[in-house]
Amino acid sequence: MPLYDSQELKIYNSLSGEKEIFTPIHEGAVGMYVCGPTVYSHVHLGNCRTFMSFDMIFRYLKHLGYKVRYVRNITDAGHLENDAEEGEDKIAKKARLEQMEPMEVVQKYTVDFHNILDLFNLLPPSIEPTATGHIIEQIEIIKQIIDKGYAYEVNGSVYFDVQGFNKTHAYGKLSGRKLEDMISNTRVLTAQDEKKSPQDFALWKKAEPQHIMRWPSQWGDGFPGWHLECTAMSTKYLGTSFDIHGGGMDLKFPHHECEIAQAEATNGESPVHYWMHANMLTLNGKKMSKSTDNNILPGEIFTGENNILSKPFSPSVVRFFMMQAHYTSILDLSNDALLASEKGHQRLMEALQNLADIEPQQCPSHFNIDAWEKKCYQAMNDDFNTPILIAHLFEAVKEINHLKDGSRQINPSDKDKLSKLLQAFVFDILGLKKEVSSNTNSQTPALVEMLIKLRKEARDNKDFATSDSIRDQLLALGIQLKDGPEGTTFSLT
Ligand code: AMP
Ligand code: ZN
Repeated sequence: MPLYDSQELKIYNSLSGEKEIFTPIHEGAVGMYVCGPTVYSHVHLGNCRTFMSFDMIFRYLKHLGYKVRYVRNITDAGHLENDAEEGEDKIAKKARLEQMEPMEVVQKYTVDFHNILDLFNLLPPSIEPTATGHIIEQIEIIKQIIDKGYAYEVNGSVYFDVQGFNKTHAYGKLSGRKLEDMISNTRVLTAQDEKKSPQDFALWKKAEPQHIMRWPSQWGDGFPGWHLECTAMSTKYLGTSFDIHGGGMDLKFPHHECEIAQAEATNGESPVHYWMHANMLTLNGKKMSKSTDNNILPGEIFTGENNILSKPFSPSVVRFFMMQAHYTSILDLSNDALLASEKGHQRLMEALQNLADIEPQQCPSHFNIDAWEKKCYQAMNDDFNTPILIAHLFEAVKEINHLKDGSRQINPSDKDKLSKLLQAFVFDILGLKKEVSSNTNSQTPALVEMLIKLRKEARDNKDFATSDSIRDQLLALGIQLKDGPEGTTFSLT
């Protein structure tokens, strides 16, 4: 019997504003789509939080025995500056500034994104489609929306007719906004505006001569609107109606609202059963963001090269810090919070090691493992409540410390059950990693020296992808390389 049969998972659905019992459309299988990054610069820690939240959700669904198809896209075209309807493409702008091909920018930051998520131990999604790989599908959807009467063409661009759509559907239902309020709160259109109404959004934009990211279409050369790619890719791989759609809270409006409108206009049905929104990571009390410079990059945390933190922190400690907050709560990054997480992470890892070394006894155990297991699952079933789960994990840590000092005993089958459950919750579900810092063995220095040599060879051959990958993977294991005039040295983070 799969585990999901005996567990009642509840998910907070942003669409209904309520926690709902999770029932997938197809028994035993889950389709989940999460909006991925726009790959025009390094991901900051805030972006990572959202992807980590959905990685934990992906991991728990898999743990429950569901076959999960997890689609997370790469936005490599169509996302304009300031998330606006007019202006330069974020990727094209970066390409112009750095004198690169747009696809070089995309490649560089996609590789960076993958490396960082790998360090944080995120599982790869089942499918990672790109916007540029789905231009034909997007054009197809636009044609259908025009045919249904919910979009109009002006001067080589196509816009979604929000007021027309709202006559038969409810625009604004996800964000709780009313179209009448939006209309009265927005500026009036000027003569240069092509749109019939300010709420209308672009499905296709005519490419001006200087716009290099362009594709041919029946409306002339142009590029798709930002919201459209997610409708095209989610419905292509998960169907016109699927289980879960996620993203950061800041995408609820207009991005997800527009996705709903596009999908409903095309397919006549609501695309998503459970809308899930992960909350923001803040720094100095303000949203971490690329555009305001209020951010920290994961690499700056692992190396300690930043002005915010007193020391480097390892990827697993940072992940533990994130998991100590519920994914729907705002979380503020601070030195004190990371120091506390580092202590907690160490206590947890030491307890796991200590449990492995404990000799079980043939005696009744003091610790009620079944009751404890139930509480752990209840926490996760309550909308993935990882902070409560972690509180329960520390009850087990306390018990293990009693076992270690000999004040209590555990019998062999309970020991086995406790270790298996802890492994599942700590590593499989929370996605933490054992790091070598506290228990390196005597061969580690020789092995690291060998890798330093291989990395040097790679660098001499200008194979920077390999040399960076060696450095990053060692860092994920808690080993930090430092390049200096005398060569490369290493230290344990
Ligand atoms: P972007 O690359 O800007 O499209 O963002 C990628 C993802 O990161 C989106 O799901 C955003 O909602 C999310 N995101 C951006 N800033 C933050 C933040 N400060 N905290 C958490 N998630 C964020
Ligand atoms: Zn999206």
